[in-house]
Amino acid sequence: MEAPSLSLQTFDMVIFGGTGDLAFRKLLPALFRRFVDGQIAGGSRVIGVAREPLTLAAYRDLAEAALRRAVPEADPGQLRHFLNRLGYHALDVGADAGWTDLSAVCTASGSRLRVFYLSTPPALYAGLCRRLAANGLNGPEARVVLEKPIGHDAKSAAAINGAVGAVFPEARIFRIDHYLGKETVQNLLALRFGNVLFEPLWNAAHIARVQITVAEDMGVGTRGAYYEGVGALRDMVQNHLLQLLCMVAMEPPASLDPEAVRTEKLKVLRALQPLRGSDVARLTVRGQYTAGAAGAGYLQEIGRAASRTETFVALRAALGNWRWAGVPFYLCTGKRLPERVSEIVVDFHAIPHSIFPGVEGAMAPNRLMLRLQPHEGIRLGLMGKYPDSDGMQLRPVSLDMTFADAFGLRPRDAYERLLLDVVRGDPTLFMHRDEIDAAWRWIDPIEEAWDAVVEAPFAYAAGSWGPPEARLFLRPGESPGPLPAAVRSTTLN
Ligand code: NAD
Repeated sequence: MEAPSLSLQTFDMVIFGGTGDLAFRKLLPALFRRFVDGQIAGGSRVIGVAREPLTLAAYRDLAEAALRRAVPEADPGQLRHFLNRLGYHALDVGADAGWTDLSAVCTASGSRLRVFYLSTPPALYAGLCRRLAANGLNGPEARVVLEKPIGHDAKSAAAINGAVGAVFPEARIFRIDHYLGKETVQNLLALRFGNVLFEPLWNAAHIARVQITVAEDMGVGTRGAYYEGVGALRDMVQNHLLQLLCMVAMEPPASLDPEAVRTEKLKVLRALQPLRGSDVARLTVRGQYTAGAAGAGYLQEIGRAASRTETFVALRAALGNWRWAGVPFYLCTGKRLPERVSEIVVDFHAIPHSIFPGVEGAMAPNRLMLRLQPHEGIRLGLMGKYPDSDGMQLRPVSLDMTFADAFGLRPRDAYERLLLDVVRGDPTLFMHRDEIDAAWRWIDPIEEAWDAVVEAPFAYAAGSWGPPEARLFLRPGESPGPLPAAVRSTTLN
């Protein structure tokens, strides 16, 4: 069953980078699914733009193959209708030639809403926006979507944001972080602010630690050229993990108004305690995968003899504000880990006193787990009485909810939600430039401290849970176990 959806105004979406991995694997399938659901109004167009000199028929063939892969259940009739909406325009966006033709293609549909989706290498964003403006394509009907990464530090991000901001007002710039489009992340808002149960407990007095884990089982694969010199901190923590941290830690916004939500997120980023110099050695662990059960090592994959690029990072962050003083936020992400899983785990404090004799060791503090992927869902860990036992024997039990089961609906892919939010003009789940700036300002000193030391990232075998040093670090004082704890302890499926 599909979620009920509202039909939207007619629009054109121009995807720069229309032959790329993201376009074929995520953007076109997301648009197709919304089309099948009747949400894309008749007459709307999707126009791929890329350097490859393809005919329209050849582009549609490529798109069809990609859609069949991504949506195997696709109805052939609907697929044909959708493909008929697809246009293609070959253009080197880094040069001035060919823009008049693109402009003619765009304006053929009058002044309807026009979304420019920038899915090219980010180094092209500034020139691309300048050329959109030079060709009169940045009028009030135009919106622009920026894919990550926006820069590799605060300075380069400011340069991109400045160049895009010179052409489009902030209200028409949509910086995408697809983690924010995931149902579980929005459900975090529903859980926190649509119920009275959690908010009174959502602070340092009741919460002992928060762990945010994004584990990938894949290596860098064909993205080695991009990844080398970037690393997990810039690729994942600066955007996805910090955005998730914002959603967990922000104060209740006065409303769901985009400005209200973004203001609260920004306050979280600005409350992050800086990690500098020796803090970085104490509170962060970098790793790089070597050949192991799951395959080749990073160096073999990128074809180099040496590299200091980290493919794993675990760090302990802290927020300097009243609500969260003293609560560690463990952020952990890595490639070539045993599973692909993204999770937020909130551990509450232990009960202050047990009235159950003889079961102290078995008393597990309450734990709230929010699973982003796979199988989005929520689990609340409680203590319960073991049935048929003599006396009071307690055991940990859990309340589980997977969204697919709870509502009988297929959870939408994050891009389905976010692409149509752009059409709706709703920037709530997109990042303001100030958030990008604040996130980089926290990341930059960590990168600088890593650059200043001779130590390279710790090795971990492909298919293991990261370097052993991270296990000790993530749970100080406990014997090393198969961490990340968030990953180990989840069985939602
Ligand atoms: P890709 O290398 O597969 O595709 C790049 C696309 O850009 C191709 O269509 C190519 O023709 C086009 N392009 C490159 N230079 C061009 C030029 N001068 N003129 C016109 N077109 C040009 O890359 P991708 O994986 O699709 O990623 C696209 C963007 O999305 C990048 O910014 C990337 O960082 C970001 N991103 C990708 C993913 C993913 O899963 N692939 C995830 C998150 C973010």
